[in-house]
Amino acid sequence: MLAFTRREGEEVVIGDPAAPLGIVRVSSIKGDRVRLAFDFSREIPVNRREVADQINSNQPGKDGNPIDGQSPPASTPLSSPQKVNPSNRFGWDYRALGAQFPKLPFAITDAHSHVNGGRASAILREAMDLFGIGSIWSMTYLEQVPAVRAELGDRLRLIAVPDFASKDRKYALGAGFLERIGQYHELGSRLCKIWAAPRSVDYAIEAGDATMFELDAPIRIAAMDMATKLGMSLMVHIADPDTWFQTRYSDAARYGTKSAQYLPLERLLDRFTAPWLAAHMGGWPEDLNFLTGLLDRHPNLFLDTSATKWILREISKHPAGAVQNFLERFRGRILFGSDIVTTDEHMIAGESKSEMAAKASRPEDAFDLYASRYWALRTLWESRFDGESPIADPDLAMVDPKRFSAMDAPRLRGQHLPASLLKSLYVDAAANFISAGASVGAARNASGQTR
Ligand SMILES: [Zn+2]
Repeated sequence: MLAFTRREGEEVVIGDPAAPLGIVRVSSIKGDRVRLAFDFSREIPVNRREVADQINSNQPGKDGNPIDGQSPPASTPLSSPQKVNPSNRFGWDYRALGAQFPKLPFAITDAHSHVNGGRASAILREAMDLFGIGSIWSMTYLEQVPAVRAELGDRLRLIAVPDFASKDRKYALGAGFLERIGQYHELGSRLCKIWAAPRSVDYAIEAGDATMFELDAPIRIAAMDMATKLGMSLMVHIADPDTWFQTRYSDAARYGTKSAQYLPLERLLDRFTAPWLAAHMGGWPEDLNFLTGLLDRHPNLFLDTSATKWILREISKHPAGAVQNFLERFRGRILFGSDIVTTDEHMIAGESKSEMAAKASRPEDAFDLYASRYWALRTLWESRFDGESPIADPDLAMVDPKRFSAMDAPRLRGQHLPASLLKSLYVDAAANFISAGASVGAARNASGQTR
């Protein structure tokens, strides 16, 4: 094996110096950690040993995919290293990559997003057009609806959310939310989001009553009552990734175990017969057997596949065919979603004071942030891509800080779904969810029923 001694910033050129195959650069050295940058064309896979071994040990799916050209996007030249950011670890040109996806015979519905900010919405619209996203369901703040609608028009479908920016959380999630649900409904919204992640316990303790924001607490039930009486469907955020239960929620006395999160949900799914959309594959993409039981027990339950980093990481880990079988079994009940968060704070250069500004601080980075999600999700569902994700996933370092840095990323393994299943995931399931909600609403009006 050839070995060189190099210092930080120095490079090794692989292949013909006049037309190199690629360049390896020592980008930084910190303690016992060396960061290497690989400047290669995308045809040449570059993987950490652990990921390479994982790829070798898995048989790629061998089913034929009837969508023509439904293969991983071909190579794209690397852009300048200045393009590298947490949404774009390899400095790719997402515009060039987006143009390489096959044009689908339908427009995709993104059923989970948080679109705010007029300038940010315009950048998102470019990413939507590039990746074939027709309409987007969004938890847009009431105050931001005019600015977002000015850019997205009727491609935007509103999801009612409380004013999370309010300092008075008890009011914002209680009486304040009831008012807002009515206002969202008047703006055409037919979906109301109940956010019950384990960390809502922290907010509840801050507000003086640890049980105040539990999923079946009185102020939550009041919101569900209000929404369903207006003929709206319900959306719920339940649980969080296994990686979070291993780390930030390791205090089970405070947060409860992961399974415990689902007990109130199952009771409420029986009590409120409206369609429910459980975000992030019902909060448990790690466990398809659990989700199978949950979906079997509750025919009014639908799932969205949002939260790009979480979904990429966990869906890629399942044995070949398992995810496709699951989606096939619950065809029409699993909706495509991204969980893209847009805000005009993504355009602010300089000091990254807020969490949002830290993710992107100029329009180009905001574009990468939004476009990378659609690139990665379409690649996950449609292609045979098998390599490291271009999106940094800090959960790796959170669980194993010795092995990973915040810029590392997990394996992304394309599921190469057949065309008809893709159509269900991308558009038909969303239409199905809307019509299920409309028929429950119509039945309620016809009988004047208010249970
Ligand atoms: Zn979300």
